[in-house]
Amino acid sequence: MSSMPTIKSREIKIVQDIPISKTLKFWEGLKEGKVYATKCKKCGKVYFPPSADCPECLSSEMDWIELSSEAEIETFTHVVVRPTTFQQYKPYTVAIGKLKEGVRVLAWLTGFKLSQISVGMKVKLVAKISPEGYATYEFVPP
Ligand SMILES: [Zn+2]
Repeated sequence: MSSMPTIKSREIKIVQDIPISKTLKFWEGLKEGKVYATKCKKCGKVYFPPSADCPECLSSEMDWIELSSEAEIETFTHVVVRPTTFQQYKPYTVAIGKLKEGVRVLAWLTGFKLSQISVGMKVKLVAKISPEGYATYEFVPP
């Protein structure tokens, strides 16, 4: 142990403060079965989850675009040891899929046996309402 006095650093939390009016379309879209991203009007970069401002060129001029559902699995994890909040679920698989638009989406992967899942396989991104009534999205077989 060092004899130097120490002080605990404060916990740093990053909170995204996006006005509800700017993300409402995203949540409404999910309820209608559509997954929206935002696209910067100035530089054309696509953001998912939707961003109200473009960190690339600092523009706040964003367009809503509906994402195509075609995705390709880049990586996945099968989660057996669930966090406490997910104890009521069976073991599940979380995947990162790359969409045609170039954005990466992190979502649950359902409808596959674990042995069927491989990197590079084609999946579909769909909007859905969870059993608890939350609007969400996940990857399913194409
Ligand atoms: Zn931009």
